[in-house]
Amino acid sequence: MREGNVAATEPEVVQARLENQCQALREAWEAHLSRGDSDSLDAFRKEAANLSDMARQQGLARISELALMLEVMCGPVLDEQEPVTAEFQDTVSHYLNTLGEQCRQALCGSATPAAPAAQVLMLAGGGSLDDDVEQHLAHFGYELIQVTSVDDMDRRLQRSAPRAVMLDPALLGGADGVIALARQLREQLGEDLPILLVTDTPSMDSRLAAARAGLTAYLVKPVGFDELPELLELFQLDHQPEAYRVLMVEDSPTQARYISTVLEGAGMEVIAVSNPMEVLETLEVRDVDLILTDMYMPDCTGYELASVIRQIPRHASIPIVYLSGETKLDRQLRAMGRGGDDFLTKPIEPDHLVQAVSIRAERGRMLRGMMVTDGLTGLLNHTRVKEELEAELARARRRGSVVSFAMIDLDYFKGVNDTFGHPAGDRVLKTLAGLLRQRLRRTDSIGRYGGEEFAVIMPDATVEEAVRVLDGIRQRFADIRHAGPEGPFRVTFSAGVACYPDCGDATQLTMEADTALYAAKRAGRNCIRAGRPGQG
Ligand code: GH3
Ligand code: MG
Ligand code: MG
Ligand code: MG
Repeated sequence: MREGNVAATEPEVVQARLENQCQALREAWEAHLSRGDSDSLDAFRKEAANLSDMARQQGLARISELALMLEVMCGPVLDEQEPVTAEFQDTVSHYLNTLGEQCRQALCGSATPAAPAAQVLMLAGGGSLDDDVEQHLAHFGYELIQVTSVDDMDRRLQRSAPRAVMLDPALLGGADGVIALARQLREQLGEDLPILLVTDTPSMDSRLAAARAGLTAYLVKPVGFDELPELLELFQLDHQPEAYRVLMVEDSPTQARYISTVLEGAGMEVIAVSNPMEVLETLEVRDVDLILTDMYMPDCTGYELASVIRQIPRHASIPIVYLSGETKLDRQLRAMGRGGDDFLTKPIEPDHLVQAVSIRAERGRMLRGMMVTDGLTGLLNHTRVKEELEAELARARRRGSVVSFAMIDLDYFKGVNDTFGHPAGDRVLKTLAGLLRQRLRRTDSIGRYGGEEFAVIMPDATVEEAVRVLDGIRQRFADIRHAGPEGPFRVTFSAGVACYPDCGDATQLTMEADTALYAAKRAGRNCIRAGRPGQG
């Protein structure tokens, strides 16, 4: 039962059914309030489940989610894990109100999101891009589609949604045209769509227009492939970001289920801990973007917990958000003084909770990002790669799985700098970083190990698999033409791979990968070699 086949039902009919179901839910709640027994609560739960299913079938995610939460919240009370508290009742009536409003407005306006494709749509006349750019985008898995009018572009957009759009203001009657079209594109395709302006008039006027239209980047013609790495960095922005990971500390099962339903519904990952005394252990083994903690819990309060977390330097940058029924301002302020970053009050609207958590998690991630990544390439820095390697090895020991570790070193890179200049060398480093990011799995960790040396950690990959994947990347990289002052040039890399459990710890693994790398260099470079256990 998917959304597709319900489109035949008249919107008015759907609307009426929804409102009726919502009314039935309300009545079931009132019946429970007057009778107070578990049968009536169970009846209420069933109505909530019905509404949730009905809304889901109509593609009305928000209503379905709200109703699901009501259904879920009844669980612990019916299982007699929890009494019916005033807080529970308040929360339910709060959601019933929100649901009522949502059902009334359910079918006013809805948009179907288009499936993302790795296409770059370009609206421009001739001569905006070097001929090579198209081929280079292809190396990175993008298809460049050129259109010469807004009508053409509209027709294209009907068929598929691009990953990024490039616009030439000359074809749009200047600044106002750009702003209007950018706004329209964002409305159609989402706020995150990268829009790049490609112009031959780098004037303050057009820059201002670009800024006002909230454009992603501003490029001056002719755009050569030396700008490609930077461009690709921008397109990376559009890749699905990793879900925020929230550590939730909450002693009440009802609240815990509610919060995780809301946050997971918004695409976040929730690690639930009911006992604050277990938080430090959890932080040892899991990276989290944010800690969301209840205030009053049996063994330790939320602000005591925050004080303890803040004693540990490695955890100093994790945002801590309190979620509590505490409404007294002075107590809230005291809690914030103990290292909390925000204070949310229960009961809280799903939207508000999701928004508050996302904003804080994003900032936390950014701060952490600055501490663990390399400034030039955005890859993990040396320290972080070593930490990741230890963590992956620990995981592999527990699960009895394999981990491959590769060291990559650019060939004759000193010569590249000497011949084409250091800035050109830097762009080569960024290009390789972009290619690695693009081609490796999300679960792989990629780092800049030193100057022109990179390291890759590949969990669950055997040596043979790692060599095969890296060899594919090696070939692609060798094909890329980099822009030099006097024309394009090519660069290659060599790599050495070692694997756990052939090598038992991080030191051995690193030594073995390094030995293999030097074997690859001796074998003539531009190749990958696997380490042999016991040889290092
Ligand atoms: P091999 O094939 O044996 O690896 O030769 P190579 O020239 O790559 O090795 P070598 O270790 O002699 O030189 C590494 C060069 O990498 C020297 C240095 O100028 C360059 N390099 C290191 N870090 C950076 C950087 O951040 N930017 C640029 N442009 N070059 C860098
Ligand atoms: Mg509590
Ligand atoms: Mg080197
Ligand atoms: Mg080198």
